[in-house]
Amino acid sequence: MTPQTPQTQGALTFLQPGQKRLWIGGEWMATTATFDAFDPATGAHLATLSRAGAAEADAAVAAATRALPLWAALTPAARGAVLWRIADVIEAHADELAELETLDQGKTLRTGRMGEIPGAIAQFRYYAGYATKILGSTIPTSIAHQPPGKRIFAYTMREPIGVVAAIVPWNSPLLMAAMKLAPALCAGCAVVLKPAEETSLTAIRLGELLADVGLPPGVVNILTGYGHEVGAALTAHPGVAKVAFTGSTETGRVLLGAARGNLKKLTLELGGKSPAVVMADADLTLAVPGVARGIFGNAGQVCVAGSRVYVQRALHDRFAEALAAEAGRMRLGPGLDPASDLGPLVNTAQADRVAAYVKEGRAEGATVLTGGTRSGGAFYAPTVLTNTRPSMRLMREEIFGPVVTLTPFDDMDEALAQANDTVYGLAASVWTESLSTAHRMAAGIRAGTVWVNCHSYFSPELPKGGHKESGWGYENGAQGLENYLESKTVCMVL
Ligand code: NAD
Repeated sequence: MTPQTPQTQGALTFLQPGQKRLWIGGEWMATTATFDAFDPATGAHLATLSRAGAAEADAAVAAATRALPLWAALTPAARGAVLWRIADVIEAHADELAELETLDQGKTLRTGRMGEIPGAIAQFRYYAGYATKILGSTIPTSIAHQPPGKRIFAYTMREPIGVVAAIVPWNSPLLMAAMKLAPALCAGCAVVLKPAEETSLTAIRLGELLADVGLPPGVVNILTGYGHEVGAALTAHPGVAKVAFTGSTETGRVLLGAARGNLKKLTLELGGKSPAVVMADADLTLAVPGVARGIFGNAGQVCVAGSRVYVQRALHDRFAEALAAEAGRMRLGPGLDPASDLGPLVNTAQADRVAAYVKEGRAEGATVLTGGTRSGGAFYAPTVLTNTRPSMRLMREEIFGPVVTLTPFDDMDEALAQANDTVYGLAASVWTESLSTAHRMAAGIRAGTVWVNCHSYFSPELPKGGHKESGWGYENGAQGLENYLESKTVCMVL
């Protein structure tokens, strides 16, 4: 297939031949070992990247450790101003960053340009304002042993947790990096960012853009490389105080073991198998396109993708027909082509994985209403399945592709039982015109986020995290900032 050509000078310049380097302590450094980035839409070679290992992890952690006191000593307003400048510089380069994300990950340009890049900018703006609002408290104490004539005064202070390893996945690379960098920098932490090996380009370009925003060298370090190499080195590193991780539940479990050595603090944003529950009274003008976007957005490679859809029986067949029609209308194509509604999956291995789930489901009796086809390379058609059973692997495991199952239910109790029949608990949506049903379903579903009449709505002020095996801790808002702060109690006799 003909290679895709970006339109921005920034992306064209970035993709000139030459090995991409690591950003450590404010310097660009190359490694002898390399790996390559490819466009999943065309197979074209995009870049050769440095492959960091344990030595580079050591160097980056050392640089971050040196930078930490300088960064933490800046006034909160000065730190906030740097975060605001990061937002500005991303905004000024939004078009080229969106193009690089499309080329590297496969997503449509619209997904990056309208959703993820503005989402990354919003993270830095939100936490820029928070830097001046990190507060301790004074605490009236009831301690009985007070020396005669003296008083006890106690208060808490908030301090940065230390050096943070931020490890992110390949589905929304720049946005996931911003969701960790912004609160960590706001809190006064220094960061070593490790993008996913499949999608490292926007992280490297971000490093270039950060050169002039006023960050002391070493406050942000960027290491490209493999999870089992540099990722493992960072998560086991005694100089890292906290790992902020987004990725699969399987890797999350590995990190638990790796973090044991110095009892690192961990936040784990993991996988999902999110339900979308459509009640018979749903407004179909919202529900059909909304459920479709909830599963087919970013070709289903979204942690909160609504991959299990439950529809009240009276509406089931009509809804199934409408959703299949919506899916059938979606045009598959390279992400830089404005006519494409869906790009490829991140690589052919992911497309193989998705195809294997559908093949197995079919063999076990599932009916394909639309899709179920591979159209060359890493492209997989939006797929709607019915006649599935809860025991099927495709109903239980995260597929991370544009595949949705439709299942009927009779009443709210049955809908809740089905929605909660999963080890995951990341998100859910409910589609209804009844306020009472909306609140009862929102209370009954075990998930970190429940949307009503929408799906995949995110904003930096809305906490986001997983119940059950979807993770530990929450990102965004005040809760997201807490992950990067320690509390210190000071108690004095005066
Ligand atoms: P992954 O777990 O394979 O990889 C994620 C990151 O971890 C990558 O940077 C990888 O290099 C690194 N890694 C892998 N092994 C490691 C190890 N042993 N030590 C340290 N780091 C290691 O996940 P993925 O396939 O890149 O991403 C898809 C997954 O991410 C899906 O399960 C998806 O649901 C999840 N995800 C969750 C959220 C959320 O907010 N909950 C958001 C986006 C994606």
